Amino acid sequence: MKILKFGGKSLSNGDGINKVVAIITDKVNQGEEIAIVVSARGNATDELEEILKVAATNKDYKLLFEGFKKYQQDEYENVDLSEEFNVLEKLFEGVSLIGDYSNKIKDQVLSKGELLSAKLLTAILIENGINARFADTRELIKTDSKFGDAQPLEQISKKNVINYFKENNGTTVNIITGFIGSNNNNDTTTLGRNGSNYTASLIANYLNAEELQNYTHVDGIYTANPDLVLDAKKIDHLSFNEANEIANFGATILHAKTIIPLLEKNIPLRILNTFNHENKGTLITSNSNKEGIKTLSVLENVSLVNLEGRGLLGKTGVDARIFRVMGDNDISVSIISQGSSERGIGLVVAADKATKAMIELEKEFENDFYSKDVNKITVTDDVSVISIIGQDLSTFHKPYTALIKNKIVPILFNNTVTGKNVSLVVKKSQLNKALNVIHGEIFGVSKKINIAIFGHGLVGGTLINQILESAATIEKRKDIKLNVFAIANSSNVLLNKNGVTPNWKNEIQNNGFSYTIDDVIAYANEHHLENLIAIDNTASATFVENYIPLAESSFDLISSNKVANTLSYSFYKKLRKVLADNQKSYLYETNVGAGLPLIDTIKLLHLSGENITKIKGVFSGTLSYLFNNFSAKDAPFSEILKEAIENGYTEPDPREDLCGNDVGRKLLILARELDLQNEFEEIDIQNLIPEHLREGDVSDFLNKLTEFDPIYAKIKADQKPNHVLRYIGELSGDLQNDKGNLEVKLVSVPSDTALGGLKGSDSFFEIYTESYGDRPIVIQGAGAGSAVTARGVFGDILRLSDKG
Ligand code: ASP
Ligand code: MG
Repeated sequence: MKILKFGGKSLSNGDGINKVVAIITDKVNQGEEIAIVVSARGNATDELEEILKVAATNKDYKLLFEGFKKYQQDEYENVDLSEEFNVLEKLFEGVSLIGDYSNKIKDQVLSKGELLSAKLLTAILIENGINARFADTRELIKTDSKFGDAQPLEQISKKNVINYFKENNGTTVNIITGFIGSNNNNDTTTLGRNGSNYTASLIANYLNAEELQNYTHVDGIYTANPDLVLDAKKIDHLSFNEANEIANFGATILHAKTIIPLLEKNIPLRILNTFNHENKGTLITSNSNKEGIKTLSVLENVSLVNLEGRGLLGKTGVDARIFRVMGDNDISVSIISQGSSERGIGLVVAADKATKAMIELEKEFENDFYSKDVNKITVTDDVSVISIIGQDLSTFHKPYTALIKNKIVPILFNNTVTGKNVSLVVKKSQLNKALNVIHGEIFGVSKKINIAIFGHGLVGGTLINQILESAATIEKRKDIKLNVFAIANSSNVLLNKNGVTPNWKNEIQNNGFSYTIDDVIAYANEHHLENLIAIDNTASATFVENYIPLAESSFDLISSNKVANTLSYSFYKKLRKVLADNQKSYLYETNVGAGLPLIDTIKLLHLSGENITKIKGVFSGTLSYLFNNFSAKDAPFSEILKEAIENGYTEPDPREDLCGNDVGRKLLILARELDLQNEFEEIDIQNLIPEHLREGDVSDFLNKLTEFDPIYAKIKADQKPNHVLRYIGELSGDLQNDKGNLEVKLVSVPSDTALGGLKGSDSFFEIYTESYGDRPIVIQGAGAGSAVTARGVFGDILRLSDKG
């Protein structure tokens, strides 16, 4: 025999009750032997309680009562529920006259919820051809007389139930009222709120059932509340002990008194979803899971009471006094935290009890205030407790670090000594985000990285597509889920917390709207997005102003935009300070040499104490192409330049390349990597444009390209034999000082050197260090182009994702 218990939501009108009927019919047809325990339907118990209160204050309860009856009767007009309705009517009338009611009356009223429910379900089942039978537990479960929280009397209840089932066995499906019983006077009693679960486990125990199936409106027990944590996973199997720790269910299905009858007979409990037939639910047995389980549970409406005082040091009996105050005032304490110096003691209590706790403590410690042993008692409202069940301190640093990284600093935390359980108190406003961060961290499953991409031109657009294409593979390989929640250009933003789709170009056209950076930050906050990264793929000089607010709002930064690193040194420092203060990172590998691993290499060498003495190379793909070809071919300079322009290797105004500023910026970025404090103005840049062509509009300039020719023909001819021209950046000087020599210049080098042998539009870097002597580290390859740059930015995303 299996016992099936259905909760109030399962039995609600429409979909609910229909599903219940279908489940029962199905099992009966399969020849399963079952008995059903029901709760009141919908919110019946709450509603009855409310009507009672209204009646007792002499207000008009009739409308509420009519609503109640209408819901309970629903479309089942042919089912006779008048007996219960009439009794209720009389009871309410009486209460309204007297203006008060006893717990005994209340139990009579509340019991009608379960009676109506069982009666109705029995009638519907009979109509469906099932041999159902209404079973009133007031005749079976005998209890003491503690109305509202009655205790069943074991022996007699057991005997009654066994006898009843002997008489009504075979094909009969008994529909049993949960929650209710009666005392020796046959007065109706109830077993406490949510008591139907208790009834079900008692019946299961008495009848030696093979399983208790508790039908709810959720799929089972989760690693965290799925309403709060999107990635929460259902747990298939856990032990009663483990289940008992889970506060969400602890109060209802898994209340200790409900579990004990099951444990006693070793009866498995399965938590199932009425509304999801397929699901196998969560099975709870006395066997523990080998690996142990981890879950997150939450206490939401709590406050922190804090008692502080220097005089508490070494004083005895303080805790005893605190707890006596709590006990006398019926205030339950869920967490205490006390430092070994005893200067302060923190207590977590229910939010609605906090003020009372503070007032009573102030009374108790009045004298200690005068003697200055206690100096303040404070209450912090709006906090929540997160318990990581199954967590011990050996790996606690992981979720903890993840929280700090996401700017969530727990107000206090503590652990249980024996059990594996660490609890944290956090601000209620941070609860949702904190849960998601911890969940992502402890389950290792797909740590979510939430990305905002600014600029969706060539590089930005390519990057978005690269991310969308590789997201699934990366999630599989690295357990990292890349979620692009924002895409923006200078005017519009597209926001989607669940991630943009490959159709983002259309989406931004249709759903994009104008924005400020604060809108993006607010959106991330509102939706509790964790592990935030902002990526600047613009070339904008103004967007950089957003870096600081972004870092302050818990975003890590990545840019292919070079501006932030080439403004004044004071801005450079300021940004780094904000980043450090907020424990945020800023990566910009693509600032120099696109995707080539240059900056990371220099950073590592420098951090490891390697003394870098010189950096030299061809920093611009465009100028690499120009001079490689001009040196190799017998053609005028303007012809090569035209070729470059036509192939799209240059900026729309090629003077931006030819003036050398771009190379200068890259050189400055590398110099600052070595802690040099140079300013852009200090770079000695050889401008390749003849002076008279530097001003004026582009089209004019493009018509005068041949004016370059005599100048460069002469430079080329003046070289030593077997030499070629290269436009290089060079950082030299005593790099241990505050400043180095930064030069950008056209040089002539032997063609049989590495630099002289350069081809195509390759970038080329030589890093000279003390240990490597005169054999530099060389990094060479495609140093420009949207695809390699986007890949480089992608690399930065993965570097950040791997951190912490
Ligand atoms: N109907 C009762 C209540 O709401 C008992 C139960 O549902 O388990 O508390
Ligand atoms: Mg690079």
